[in-house]
Amino acid sequence: MKREEALAIVRKQLKEQRYIHTVGVMETAIELAKIYGADIQKAELAAIFHDYAKFRTKEEMKRIIIEQQMPQDLLAYSPELWHAPVGAYLVQTEVGIQDEDILQAIRYHTSGRPNMTLLEKIVYIADYIEPNRSFPGVDEVRALAREHLDVALFRALQNTIQFLMDKREPIYPDTFHTYNDIAQKLK
Ligand code: GDP
Ligand code: FE
Ligand code: FE
Ligand code: FE
Repeated sequence: MKREEALAIVRKQLKEQRYIHTVGVMETAIELAKIYGADIQKAELAAIFHDYAKFRTKEEMKRIIIEQQMPQDLLAYSPELWHAPVGAYLVQTEVGIQDEDILQAIRYHTSGRPNMTLLEKIVYIADYIEPNRSFPGVDEVRALAREHLDVALFRALQNTIQFLMDKREPIYPDTFHTYNDIAQKLK
């Protein structure tokens, strides 16, 4: 699928600000794919569709998580996590993208997972550092991302977990599992 077609499809699913974020993730993912030698077209499509399900209702996402037998523990954690796996499912069934590498990058873009692929890491980091993001620590991860992807990923996870803990938010086990996986690999 060509970029313009993909962007036109996703634009209909998103509000203006979220579409602008998506274009930022796309540009950043392509840049990182070039640096690290990932498949540029897959990075582009995964980034374009990563937040495809962001504005679906909680009811629809919950129904899909149950019917499609996704990890049911998701339902005990924040609905903020749901658009990632539900997005992977809808991008496959509604848009027709069958490439499992792209679908996995969408599926794990919020929590991460142990043993992330290069493409998954690129979409996760691009989502975190795209130019429209501004929060404490983002510039540090922006710089790290061009030097060492795993160190950038670790820092992003560290920041996210700390941010959630400061808000007394429950943390999804996969988020911790991803953190532990990278921590062990960086030792
Ligand atoms: P976005 O869709 O581009 O806004 O970014 P993400 O998909 O990466 O994250 C969506 C939201 O999920 C953010 O507000 C994160 O802080 C939140 N989030 C990520 N991991 C966890 C987690 O383990 N638990 C909870 N409660 N929220 C999380
Ligand atoms: Fe997201
Ligand atoms: Fe993210
Ligand atoms: Fe996003």
